[in-house]
Amino acid sequence: MRKNSVFTLLLGAFLSLPAFADEVVVYSARIEQLIKPMFDAYTKETGVQVKFITDKEGPLMERLKAEGANTPADMLITVDAGNLWHAANEGLLRPVASKTLEANVPAHLRDPQNHWFGLSVRARTIVFNTQKLKPSDLSTYEDLADPKWKGRLCMRTSKKVYNQSLVAMLIAEHGEAKAEQIVRGWVANLATDTFPDDTKMMEAIAAGQCDVGMGNTYYYGRLMEKKPALPLALFWPNQQGSGVHVNISGAGIAKHAKHEKEAIRLLEWLSSAKAQNMFADVNMEYPANPGVKADPAVAKWGDFKHNPINVAKAGELQAAAVKLMDRAGYK
Ligand code: FE
Repeated sequence: MRKNSVFTLLLGAFLSLPAFADEVVVYSARIEQLIKPMFDAYTKETGVQVKFITDKEGPLMERLKAEGANTPADMLITVDAGNLWHAANEGLLRPVASKTLEANVPAHLRDPQNHWFGLSVRARTIVFNTQKLKPSDLSTYEDLADPKWKGRLCMRTSKKVYNQSLVAMLIAEHGEAKAEQIVRGWVANLATDTFPDDTKMMEAIAAGQCDVGMGNTYYYGRLMEKKPALPLALFWPNQQGSGVHVNISGAGIAKHAKHEKEAIRLLEWLSSAKAQNMFADVNMEYPANPGVKADPAVAKWGDFKHNPINVAKAGELQAAAVKLMDRAGYK
């Protein structure tokens, strides 16, 4: 009898422990095949289960908002600083004070208020047809607005957040008036209508429909893996000046996380040397942690100087960028 009640007492104490010991719930706009291998590795190492759902960033953020304090989500993973900035701006994320994250993630790749942290880096750089151009023909994003490129430029639609972030960074650097001039120049140089995605745009460059465009590095990597004979190469622009426009895929801790400590531990682990290659290599991205080398297939594209402006600017100036692109007739 006595034994039993001690057992009941212990069981009661165990059950009333906060439930942070064994699971983390993640909402992810990165698809399952990009995240599951890491989470499996994390579970193997720590015993902590990672439950996740995947969806587009819009529905995930709507869901977080609608669920409010009742959300099961502890962490949000998504691409583009513009999206992470929105999540923070909507009050969906909580700030995290972590020396580990501060040490592992460079300052320009995380929120100055610590609501989100970059975990991998993608560069939005120049892609060109190697049968038509030499690297010495190219220099900067701004130069692609010069009339000498008339009828030679291909671009992805302005509806995509990647281009909104690129233009937001131009505004941060040059101010609105000059940024608008540049975007108007790009539009005037278009060889054809804008493309729905980076891959179709790069295929058009390879096919000779145009000579040059701007795209994310991993789309180039994926395309060249499939069709290595395509006459395409990357060019790193603005190396004498501000550097290449980079963006992130990253994560933040949900405002109403129920497993906060465990979620922070997972986030710290994702930024660590151990996990960074898993996070980046699977999508041909660059590790955010500067202590970690890129996959050889990515590293062979060469070193380049990043634009060191904080990627949060992409969010802050996104609305202005969208309006500017509309005014400039960039569809
Ligand atoms: Fe993408």
